[in-house]
Amino acid sequence: MSAKLIDGKAIAAELRQSLKQQVTERTAAGKAAPGLAVVLVGDSAASAVYVRNKRKACAEIGIESFAYDLPDSTGQSELIALIDELNGRDDIDGILVQLPLPKHIDDDTVLDRIRADKDVDGFHPENIGKLLQRRPTLRPCTPWGSIDLLKSTGEDLTGMHAVIVGASSIVGRPMALELLLIGVTPTICHSRSGDLERYVREADIVIAAVGIPEFVKGSWIKPGAIIIDVGINRTDDGKLVGDVEFEAASQRAGWITPVPGGVGPMTVAKLMQNAITTADRPNQ
Ligand code: NDP
Repeated sequence: MSAKLIDGKAIAAELRQSLKQQVTERTAAGKAAPGLAVVLVGDSAASAVYVRNKRKACAEIGIESFAYDLPDSTGQSELIALIDELNGRDDIDGILVQLPLPKHIDDDTVLDRIRADKDVDGFHPENIGKLLQRRPTLRPCTPWGSIDLLKSTGEDLTGMHAVIVGASSIVGRPMALELLLIGVTPTICHSRSGDLERYVREADIVIAAVGIPEFVKGSWIKPGAIIIDVGINRTDDGKLVGDVEFEAASQRAGWITPVPGGVGPMTVAKLMQNAITTADRPNQ
């Protein structure tokens, strides 16, 4: 393997350590610990794992997490009523609703209901709009964490061309906005882009967020490119793999994130960073 590994696990641990320090300083100054409501609807095993990791990170850093584990049968209006209650509570600074929600609930309706200044996921239209306007406030955690991983390489990223495979509202699109902020030129590909190999071959940076195991082939990678693999896919034999053919891509890339241990831990750490920011909202 010629690529150097971007150790997301270690970089996230370092960030969590500095966040813990910030919370310690807050409480030593007589302020309340940040309070984060974590709402889980339904019994998806994958969502339960993600939520458990987020609650564990809260405990480590000193953020008080409030658990709302609701049954799959929860109605949309019931969930909206809970969000309204949490929006109004002073002891809840941030609100996280774990996605995906059950099919009978509309994600956008629920996420739009969360007060923008309590939106720790950074998905609210107001927060995305601010990122678009180059005044980021609460930022989508996965793209923001991916920027930290890119910077950790120490490479001069300015002027590089990044190809993002995947155009979702929570990863691909905000990723392009984050890359623009650091002077990278992004191209976003999606299911109708056609010949993906043509795009990826030109990329100094590849961000793979498509949700298909090993979709981006190692032979497409430009020698020396930096690869951020956002994908998390479970194979039939229970193994976790990314959206990039790791072994083959590692032969050509300059840098690569592993799955697991790459983007995943950074997403959680950035969520914690947002949670601390919500505690400083102006009306506190
Ligand atoms: P979505 O399913 O919401 O979006 C997938 C995107 O990939 C869409 O834009 C879609 O295009 C595009 N796509 C699908 N098929 C193709 C294809 N054949 N060629 C090109 N593009 C294609 O996924 P998410 O963005 O939510 O997640 C992507 C992956 O990242 C998943 O594996 C998910 O588990 C993982 N993830 C990991 C996180 C982490 O912390 N590490 C956080 C969030 C997600 P179109 O828009 O045209 O439909």
